[in-house]
This record gives sequence, structure tokens and C-alpha cells, in this order.
Amino acid sequence: MRSVVLDFERQTVGECDRPQPEGVSPAQVLFRIHEVGVCGTDRDLAAFKMRRPTQKVSSLVLGHEALGQVVRCGRDVHALSEGDWVVPTVRRGCRPACSSCARGRPDLCTSFRYTERGIVGADGYFTEYAVDDASDLIRVPPSLLDFAILIEPMSVVEKAVARALAVRQSDDASALVLGLGPIGMLASLVLKRRGFAVRVSSAEPEDHPRVGLLRSQGIGYSRLLSGSASLIVEAAGAADLALAALKCLAPCGVFVTLGAQSAPGEFSFIDLIVGNQTIVGSVNASRESFAAALSDLAALDDRVLRAMIRRFAFSDYRRTLFELPAAEPKFVHVIAD
Ligand code: BGC
Repeated sequence: MRSVVLDFERQTVGECDRPQPEGVSPAQVLFRIHEVGVCGTDRDLAAFKMRRPTQKVSSLVLGHEALGQVVRCGRDVHALSEGDWVVPTVRRGCRPACSSCARGRPDLCTSFRYTERGIVGADGYFTEYAVDDASDLIRVPPSLLDFAILIEPMSVVEKAVARALAVRQSDDASALVLGLGPIGMLASLVLKRRGFAVRVSSAEPEDHPRVGLLRSQGIGYSRLLSGSASLIVEAAGAADLALAALKCLAPCGVFVTLGAQSAPGEFSFIDLIVGNQTIVGSVNASRESFAAALSDLAALDDRVLRAMIRRFAFSDYRRTLFELPAAEPKFVHVIAD
């Protein structure tokens, strides 16, 4: 099977032939990959600068955002059947299982011995066929197929928003989102749907097409940080911006960070204390967050969701992994029609 593979020893990215999976055990499902998305994590991996847990492997098939169609089900699989459309979850729990993995929440793994398909220690989906346990697959209604590749990033947003709302003590419904990538755009759309007055801050100019898309949904945009917000979602991956934005956090507000890495800078604990503020880190997603992603994507303006995606051929991976972003934030490779 054609596969896009990272070679950690040679530090190269290239197309390789990998054996096609055929058999399935009783709880497993074989599915054909139709689309695979590319995000900042894939670009970090392809640049060999991933700064998260790495289980030792010498090579890795890339791709963790995927849409596939079921080809065969093991005899104990009843929730899925041949022809169903599926999106896989990303993380697989540690063994022996920590308490989070044991209760089916590998997204909250405490041992850091988890694997993630296409990211950490387990091959991903930038290939033609894959096998997963049925419990790691989310069934996708055909009405969402055109933008089903947004389900995985949306699940990350859903978990982050749910965690932030669970600890927020403020009634003020103002939100600030940092970053105009897929996560930032999806977060702003979800928060708007939850009734927040949302504004986004990022480096793109005011006349950028993504800004126009958000404005069409009543979401504000400014390159400059100003004012305050009771919920801030950091999805820009820039720690200096995150530190600066913390100063915009309203009393009793929550700052949830999804992309920033470490940066030198001054952080004021006392502001956090006297303001009753909360900083939340969030990664990956549970099945519940995938379910929330399906329902939010079904309710959002599909013209905006479609306009966020640009499709490429399988072999165009050097463009999507190494070239500069385009008008659309989400790059998707079509593996099979
Ligand atoms: C993925 C998450 C994953 C995280 C860290 C993100 O790009 O969407 O599912 O947990 O990277 O590896």
C-alpha cells in the first residue's frame, strides 16, 4: 500500500510501500482510507521537532485525521457494518492500563505510555487501508462526509471547551480565541453557537479570507489584543502571544491552552490568585467529545465548513507538510474517491 512514512533514523519523509492489512480479529474493523488531513502536529512531526512523548519506533506512517469506509468487520462487531463511514479516534491507551485508560479515557492517560495513531508510536492513516478496534471508530452520518475530516480537530475543541466551561465561575459570555488555524476557527464557531460574543486575534491581515468567513458568522477579528474575555482559547501555538493574552483574562475567567509551548517570560501567579482564574491544558479527546463534534458540525453553517478545506492528491504531501498555508486552513489528501 502507498504510505507516507517518517524515517526517524534518516530524518526523512517519503512515500513507501507497506503491506496491506487483511485479516481482522473478532473486535476489529478493516476500513479503506478515503481522506487524510494534515495539521500543525503533522508538520512538526515532518520537521522532526515534535515536543511531546515519543514511544521509540524507527519509522511511522503519518496521518491521524482520517475518514474511511468499512470493508470488513470482525464477528463480534455489531455497531458497524460494511459500507459505513468512520473516523478513527487518535489515542490508544497504555498497557498495563493507568486508571484513566482503564476507564476508557486514554485522552486523560497519566502514565504517558499511550500511543497515538500517526503521532506517537503507532502507524497512522496516510495510507490506503487500516485496521482498528470498533471501539476506536466513530460512525459518521453521510450528511457530514464533505467536511468529516474536521471531526477529529473539532473533537479536540469540544473537549477543551467542555473542560473550560466546567471550571468557569463567570456569567460573562465574552470569548477570545487566539489563532486562525482549523482549531481556532472551529473553537470560535463552537463558542458562538454556545452563545458567546466571540472575537479572534491572530497574525493574519484583516482582509484574509478566513477572517471574512468568521465575520459572516458574527465573529469579530483583530490583530491586536485588547479588552477582556472570560474565556480565552489559545490555538495559535505561540507562547509569547499566550502570555500577553493572559492579561486579557477577566476575573473568574478560564484560559485554555491547546498549542503554546514553553517561552521565557513573566507569569503572574498573584493575578491568577486574586482573580480566581483558571488555566487549563487540554489534549486529544474522548468519544463523548467526538459525539459533540458530530452534533456541532451538523448544526454549523456548512458553507463555512466547506470553505475551510482544500483538497490535494495523495502525492502532494510535500506541499501540505512543508509549504506555507493557503487561504483554507485545513489541507486534506484524497486517498480514494
Ligand atoms: C491531535 C490530538 C493529539 C495531539 C498530541 C493533535 O494534533 O489532534 O489528537 O492528541 O495532537 O499528539
